[in-house]
Amino acid sequence: MVKVTFYGGAAEIGGNKIMIEDEDSKIMLDFGMSLGDRARFFSEPFLSPRDEQGLIQLGITPKLSGLYKGEQTPAATAVILSHSHIDHSMCVSLLNRDIPVYCGETTKLILEATTGMRQGGFENNLSGIQFKTFRTGDMLDFGAIRVEPVHVDHSVPGSYGFLVHTSNGTIAYSGDFRAHGPRADMTLDFAVKARSREPRVFLCEGTNLVRGDLRTESEVSEKATRVVEDTKGLVLANFSTADTDRLRTFHEIAKNTDRVLAISLKQAYLLDALLKDSKLGTPDPIHDPHIVVYQKTKKTYYHWEQEIIQKASVKTSKDVRSSQEKVILAATSYDMNEILEIRPGPAGAFINSSSEPFNEEMEIDHERFVNWLNYFGLPLYQIHSSGHIMPNELRQVVAQIAPSRLVPIHTEQPRLFELFMKDLTTIDQVQKESVLTI
Ligand SMILES: [Zn+2]
Repeated sequence: MVKVTFYGGAAEIGGNKIMIEDEDSKIMLDFGMSLGDRARFFSEPFLSPRDEQGLIQLGITPKLSGLYKGEQTPAATAVILSHSHIDHSMCVSLLNRDIPVYCGETTKLILEATTGMRQGGFENNLSGIQFKTFRTGDMLDFGAIRVEPVHVDHSVPGSYGFLVHTSNGTIAYSGDFRAHGPRADMTLDFAVKARSREPRVFLCEGTNLVRGDLRTESEVSEKATRVVEDTKGLVLANFSTADTDRLRTFHEIAKNTDRVLAISLKQAYLLDALLKDSKLGTPDPIHDPHIVVYQKTKKTYYHWEQEIIQKASVKTSKDVRSSQEKVILAATSYDMNEILEIRPGPAGAFINSSSEPFNEEMEIDHERFVNWLNYFGLPLYQIHSSGHIMPNELRQVVAQIAPSRLVPIHTEQPRLFELFMKDLTTIDQVQKESVLTI
């Protein structure tokens, strides 16, 4: 008998922690933070968890002996990460160091770089973790369970889905994936490989089942190019730090419109780390003539910031103020004090290239952000393409993989799967701590 326990990722977006047990072999697929549960109790920076005991007590992370740092008998043979987003990986800091963590090479680079940039804390500590990296084509052997990682396309490089081979058949796991991105071919590879293994169960993400959209990365490029071409003043662009596809898009636009892309110190540090993975082909933040690094105004700089400032071509608010028509500045809604210093002139624009607010908390933040833009006289353009698969494409992938059963994960609307796809396969509903036997 094979047992699948959903410690997270069931009826919620993210927080994936799915244990598969077969005889003596126990693997945990992803070890992410349940951000929704965490936000019910904590709000940074004034109310943060103190230690893992608090998180366990509040039910944010599972009560499972041997899972955490310093505990005895390891609760799992291995943790296997699909990608580096925090809702899939953040809890590894808490993990029992006797449990090895398997992930792609790029995921390891991103986790190390982002941990290096954050300032300590028990949720940001990779010391002593036994990382083991894999790539597509590998077969990871854990005794009764063998895991086949297959690359997928998502909004962070180095993302994988898994085919978990057990004594009772194969369980396919999507990780986070999309079929409309620049590397849709990788998601197709996953679907083809999964089909060939005739999975008994497909653990499938459904973030976007409630909000379909058809924008692709090339449309983002096309539309953002139009905005930049028609904007005479400063262009500001907001996109996620680790979304290298989007960074590439804005880098290309800068090249084609005779501007430079001014990236944050964080983005520069991460890009610099990713150069170690030559397959990614991400731009070089230090030597690329169309990239400069924006140096925020502050009294002291962290060690990693100094490292970048010393070797990159850096620009300050004053530099940007005097060359607004020549710059695309990567900025988030938290950078408004910098924009205040830059003092944008007329005819500028703000391109928001990340998801629109979809909950109350985000709405409040958005309102504040719009107040700032109104103050500066910057029109807001929403130009984004999601990292998650769209409803019709999800149906096509499920039809192609043809699993005997499907379990919706990474969605707040698992019931929608049933209504939308019950003609394709049997849908099993799970909640936190649900156990499925195969
Ligand atoms: Zn993700």
